[in-house]
Amino acid sequence: MFANGKRTFINYLQIGTTDEKSLEANQQLFVSNLFSFIGYTITFILALNAAISGTSMLSISLFFASGIFFFCHQVHRFPKLGNTISISKSIVFINLLLLMLYLVYSGGVSNTGPLWIYIVPPVAFFFSGLRKGITGIAVFVIILTVMLFYPHETLLQTTYTLEFKLRLMLSFLTVTLLFGFYEYSRQQSYNRIEDLSHKYEQQAMHDALTNLPNRRGMRVYLNHEYNRLMRSKEPLSLLICDIDYFKQVNDKYFHDGGDFVLQSLSKFFIEKIRQQDIVARWGGEEFLFLLPNTSLKDAVVLAEKIRQQVEDHIIHYKHNDIKITISMGVNEVTPNVNIEQAINIADHSLYAAKKEGRNQTVSADTMKYST
Ligand code: GH3
Ligand code: MG
Ligand code: MG
Repeated sequence: MFANGKRTFINYLQIGTTDEKSLEANQQLFVSNLFSFIGYTITFILALNAAISGTSMLSISLFFASGIFFFCHQVHRFPKLGNTISISKSIVFINLLLLMLYLVYSGGVSNTGPLWIYIVPPVAFFFSGLRKGITGIAVFVIILTVMLFYPHETLLQTTYTLEFKLRLMLSFLTVTLLFGFYEYSRQQSYNRIEDLSHKYEQQAMHDALTNLPNRRGMRVYLNHEYNRLMRSKEPLSLLICDIDYFKQVNDKYFHDGGDFVLQSLSKFFIEKIRQQDIVARWGGEEFLFLLPNTSLKDAVVLAEKIRQQVEDHIIHYKHNDIKITISMGVNEVTPNVNIEQAINIADHSLYAAKKEGRNQTVSADTMKYST
């Protein structure tokens, strides 16, 4: 029963979260819902308390504030309103500031109202970040100072001693400073972690030698384009390329020479493909091209163009002029085969190109296009 209650409560706090939203957006929604929930329950209890104590104006204000907090929670049920997280966060914060100002103005129950203002700094920083948080708090402090220190307490419904007012402001500023510093270091750590995670993700998806996407990185593009193909039915082609007799390059120019050839060939490929095309290092001296919006016929034309250009290209390495050739296997991806099968078919075409004597392109429909 307890577990059921907990589940229901968590579901209640997850109003508005969807799978389409990012993890961060869903987390913000959850916390914003939690804050609205705490906001409307506490203000509701305080409103009842004020009603019992006979302070009707305070009671009405608290009921009103409670209603607004409740609305902030429910607003996510209406996604048509737009960015409901931002709407909810802004209303919660403004509502809180007005409520705090009213508590200072009226004194609340037995003049204890000002004690609540310490909620402002953490909420401001949490909802708005460091910069906007400081702006929000600065506006609050200015209004508060004017209210508290205006001559003859004209802007207050109650009276506070000068010592109380001074200490209230001083302690509030101290709490703000501490929360501000905490938020600053939290943001710095968050940025550092995000930079690191981005860097590691890049490393995991790219080949260190050529900087091209590696197999893992290419899988992301392949899946993405395959899904797009299923939706749009636009043609999509694959091209597998393997350097001919690369072992001989290594034998002649050693491993460093071989590496240099792989690097310059990668740069060469990048220059030759269109912006939407992707080329990845698929294996040792094997490259996979992903060509969106390209039919088998056009892919073969491109493969042939690249193959000929590589044949004519001279790689300058330590006073040596290195010439290489490549073999190409081409295949168009169709909805009736999965991406693995499509790659395998391209691979078979490449194998045929090797068998036919290398330095040539073979299309999956087994027609040979060049010699
Ligand atoms: P084929 O025409 O049949 O493709 O012959 P090949 O010599 O290119 O093919 P094979 O698969 O026999 O040899 C590939 C060579 O590529 C062997 C391997 O040492 C080399 N190689 C793989 N990765 C790298 C690399 O990162 N750097 C260097 N320098 N060589 C590599
Ligand atoms: Mg080879
Ligand atoms: Mg190979």
